Amino acid sequence: MKLIIGSHVSFKKEEQLLGSLKEALSYKANTFMLYTGAPQNTNRQPINKELTLKAQSLMKENNIDINNLVVHAPYIINLANEKNLDFSIRFLKEELKRCEELGIYKLVLHPGSHVGLGLEKGIENIVFALNQVKDSKVKICLETMAGKGSEIGTIEELQTIIDKSENKNLLICIDTCHLNDAGYDLNDFNNILNKIDNLIGIDKIGCVHVNDSKNVISAHKDRHANIGFGTISFNTLINIIYNEKLASVPKILETPYVDVYPPYKYEIEMIRNKKFNENLLNDIINQK
Ligand code: FE
Ligand code: FE
Ligand code: ZN
Repeated sequence: MKLIIGSHVSFKKEEQLLGSLKEALSYKANTFMLYTGAPQNTNRQPINKELTLKAQSLMKENNIDINNLVVHAPYIINLANEKNLDFSIRFLKEELKRCEELGIYKLVLHPGSHVGLGLEKGIENIVFALNQVKDSKVKICLETMAGKGSEIGTIEELQTIIDKSENKNLLICIDTCHLNDAGYDLNDFNNILNKIDNLIGIDKIGCVHVNDSKNVISAHKDRHANIGFGTISFNTLINIIYNEKLASVPKILETPYVDVYPPYKYEIEMIRNKKFNENLLNDIINQK
C-alpha cells in the first residue's frame, strides 16, 4: 500500500503554497495540510497566482497529487453559535474561494461549539451555515472533536449534520486524538470504522489526522502528543495508518513541536519503518 502521509505545514506570505510544499518535501511527505494564515485569526493575504503555479509544477516534479492536499479552516469560525455567525459564514465563503484558487478541494472544518445554546440549536445553526456554501466545489471535511466544553463533533453528531444539510459536498475528517478523548476506543478501530460506515459511509472519510493523545480515553481534553508518546500507543496508530480501507485517504500529523523543532520528518520516517523509536524526541532535539 502506498502511504499518503504528511503534516500540517506553514503558509507564509513570501512563498505561500510554494513555501508550504518545500517544507513538506523537507519532511519527505507526499501530502500536507495548511492554514491559509494564522489558525487563531482571520487575517488573510490574497492568493498569489504565480506562486501557486510554481508550487503546482514542483508538485508534479515530485509526484505529489494535489488532490491529497488539505486546507484547515481557522478555529475562530464557529458555525454553531449565532454570535458572529454572519461573520463566520462570510469568512468560510472566502476561505472556500482561497481553496479553489490554490487548487485544493478539501477544507477541514471544526463543526463548532454551541456555547450554552444546547446541542440541538447548535446543530441547527451549523446546518443553516453549511447550506449557505452548498454551491462550492470544495468538499468540507467536518472534523471529529474531543468534546471539550460545548464542542460538537462526535461521529453521531456529524451524521446528524450531514443528514440534515442540503450541502452534498460534506465529508468527515477523523482525528485520532480527538476520537480517543471523545471516548472511542481506538484499539478496536474496526468497530469505529463499522460505526462510521453504518452512520455516514466509509467513503465519506476525506482526511485522517494522526495524533497521539496526552490524555486518557474519554478525557474530553484535546492535547496532542507525538506518535507513540501518548496514551494511544504506536502500534494502535500504525494499525490505523495502514488500514487498507483508508489507503486512499491522506494522513496528516498535527503533533507538537519538540522544543523548537518540527517532529514531522522523524515521525514520518518512523511510521514508514513501522518501528517505534523510543529515542525519537532526543533525536529531534539533537537533530540526528
Ligand atoms: Fe482540527
Ligand atoms: Fe485535527
Ligand atoms: Zn486537536
